[in-house]
Amino acid sequence: MIWLTDSRQATGNLSDVLFFAIRGEHHDGHDFIDDLYNKGVRHFVVETPALTPARLAKLADYADARFTEVDNSLTHLQTLAAAHRQQFRIPVIGITGSNGKTIVKEWLAQLLADDFAIARSPRSYNSQLGVPLSVQQLADHHTLGIFEAGISRPQEMAALEAIIRPTIGIFTNIGTAHDEGFRTRRQKIAEKLRLFIHAQTLVYCADHTDIADEINMVLKAVNPDMRLITWSLTGQNATYKAHRNGNRLHLTGPRGDYHLTLPFTDPASVENVLHCLVTMLLFRSFNVDALQTRLSRLRPVSMRLEQKEGINNCVLIDDSYNNDLAGLQLALNFLNQQTGRSGRVVILSDVLQSGQSESDLYAQISGLIEANLIDRFVGIGPVMSRNAGLFPPNSLFYETTDQFLAQFSVSALRDSAVLVKGARTFSFERIVNRLQRKVHGTVLEINLDALTHNLNYYRERISRTDGPSATKIMVMVKAFAYGSGSAEVAQLLQYHRVDYLAVAYADEGVSLRQNGITLPIMVMNPAPETFATLLEYGLEPEIYSLRLLREWGLFAAAVAGSYGQGVPDSQSKDLPNLHLKIDTGMHRLGFLETEMPELIAYLQQHPQLRIATVFSHLAGADESQFNAFSQQQYQTFLRCTEALEAGLGYRPVRHLLNSAGIVRFPDYQLDMVRLGIGLYGVESSQTDVSAVRPVGTLRTVVSQIKCVLAGESVGYSRRGVLDHDARIATLAIGYADGFDRRLGNGVGRVWVNGTLCPTVGSVCMDMTMIDVTAASVQEGDEVIIFGPDLPITELARQINTIPYEVLTGISERVKRVFVKEGN
Ligand SMILES: *Cc1c(COP(=O)(O)O)cnc(C)c1O
Repeated sequence: MIWLTDSRQATGNLSDVLFFAIRGEHHDGHDFIDDLYNKGVRHFVVETPALTPARLAKLADYADARFTEVDNSLTHLQTLAAAHRQQFRIPVIGITGSNGKTIVKEWLAQLLADDFAIARSPRSYNSQLGVPLSVQQLADHHTLGIFEAGISRPQEMAALEAIIRPTIGIFTNIGTAHDEGFRTRRQKIAEKLRLFIHAQTLVYCADHTDIADEINMVLKAVNPDMRLITWSLTGQNATYKAHRNGNRLHLTGPRGDYHLTLPFTDPASVENVLHCLVTMLLFRSFNVDALQTRLSRLRPVSMRLEQKEGINNCVLIDDSYNNDLAGLQLALNFLNQQTGRSGRVVILSDVLQSGQSESDLYAQISGLIEANLIDRFVGIGPVMSRNAGLFPPNSLFYETTDQFLAQFSVSALRDSAVLVKGARTFSFERIVNRLQRKVHGTVLEINLDALTHNLNYYRERISRTDGPSATKIMVMVKAFAYGSGSAEVAQLLQYHRVDYLAVAYADEGVSLRQNGITLPIMVMNPAPETFATLLEYGLEPEIYSLRLLREWGLFAAAVAGSYGQGVPDSQSKDLPNLHLKIDTGMHRLGFLETEMPELIAYLQQHPQLRIATVFSHLAGADESQFNAFSQQQYQTFLRCTEALEAGLGYRPVRHLLNSAGIVRFPDYQLDMVRLGIGLYGVESSQTDVSAVRPVGTLRTVVSQIKCVLAGESVGYSRRGVLDHDARIATLAIGYADGFDRRLGNGVGRVWVNGTLCPTVGSVCMDMTMIDVTAASVQEGDEVIIFGPDLPITELARQINTIPYEVLTGISERVKRVFVKEGN
């Protein structure tokens, strides 16, 4: 049985799938049973409390499906996983701590690959849901398990402990992340230590004295026989003593005396490496050369998937640094989110170090390829090639990356979503390079995980404590999704099942439809010339005036007439529903309260025009000085909607709040909210600023560096006169890219390798000069214009504008690259 908890990941042959209907903060898995049944799923775990009479009646229709009724599906999944774990008598390493869990896990897997067949958590699957799914991978051929556990609230670790049941523990360190769930740091440490209550051995760093104290005072009492293996870089009493000088490491302990060269020198990596080395030495001793050889093979762990624009209208999913089986399914899930491309292609290297027999492994990969409905598979590597027979007949195989580059006809890839995934040794970045549309030096990187985080933040704000939210969410993707890239952002929103999208103009909506977006879309400024387009693409107009309403009425009548005149049924489309905009004080678009009687009368005469929603917009939602005015707008809005409902005889969905309003006026949520700038990482009400994550990073490069003497000038009109001898760098970004001209002459500052450098002279169309005298920089280096460390709000403030203008001003010639970090 394959366990499935996310209905969106159901593809291919589903007869073997067991679906767990889980009720979460944002979704209720029970809502998708019908859909999954129709796709072929026959085994379900459902929750008794979720089975309303209506749902029960529905389930009775699925005669050939099996339903297991439990109180809580997640708990049931965890119980099954714990029982699965009990079947294995192999060493299992459990890792927890605030930072480094994933890296320590991945590195240990790299270091121990020659000795063990390892099952490990994919990426950072370490949650209440991720851990059972990770442990379920344990199979007979495995000889070692490595799993990570992460918690954000008290009481969560007990369940994870029962599922992982580590024989060896690693406690990495303790930081401040997720502090909010815990009363004190102590409590956080104590809770994490519960992972080790049955472990035989625990590895940790003695230099973290608060962790050491808690282990000795609390954990030892519960698990007195546990062996503590410690290390220290600062001369603390420890099993292994370490000294570091640059990249030279001296490690002494019971297994010997090692002088090693480290491949990394930053403190976090050194700590991670030491956890790994000490853990390796638990299993056996190594001679220095053997240890050094393995250490030198360590590679940085990239958990990032990058989505890039490819040649021939392809979209590339770049996962060119990893290749393992668990990660493959995750990458395929991401590939499946790409709508609007006609084909799906997977380019995959040999999978290294799986510990499985070749034929089992490649049969399993081929199964995944088929289950995910991949149109074309390309395998690269000698092992892959000799197992070609296991794959679909139209697959292509190459012994090496060079052979692929020499022989594969790149132009044959068109209009496809292409996943490029390979083990590091195959240098698949060369393939990505070939398939990627060339980008000029300036790139806007959009972090999809941050977008998801922000969406969830606002969803939490509108969810009621007594169950899943009744308030719907419309997301504004106007103006190229606030500059972030409409199609990609909309795909993510569709994946996360928001209720509505909104754009400013019809053509923005058309482009979303052409990219496979099927969510309902509201068009805020629908010119009458575009009505036919709206009908054709199923886009719903905002109606803001009697003039526009009458125009639509005429259009609707003409359409109805033409259908009557023999337009074949298959070509007749349903007339889209309408959205009424009420002007309650913004005085931009919308019906005034005084116009309601006329509006209602018209709608009563034209009952075929259906109103989906009615809405208004607050003029000062983000500023408390306008609270009284906002309240007045709300009251006006209520009066208008009540009159409208009475006149129509039904109740359209009502919505009022934008991002700032969601945070500041929880009482005005009504039936739906409209999320805008907050999704893109700016908390405009300034009340809960750190709750949202920055989404965009605008980067460019240094094209040239030169020394200019005091008294000389830089740029047009000789504006940048220097008062000192300076090193001046020319950047590949100008006002045509959206780097505002007002940022010139020292007003704007950008990050260059950790130093803030001011602009010099006027910003040009495609270039800008900065003073890098204080920075250490070379031609070709990266420069950050804004990003997580240089907030866009700051940039906006420097030129007296708002982040909205900066974001939407980034021109479309700047390539957008989408990255996904975690699971
Ligand atoms: C743009 C827009 C929003 C979103 O506003 P934010 O401040 O970005 O959250 C909401 N409603 C309407 C009518 C809009 O035009």
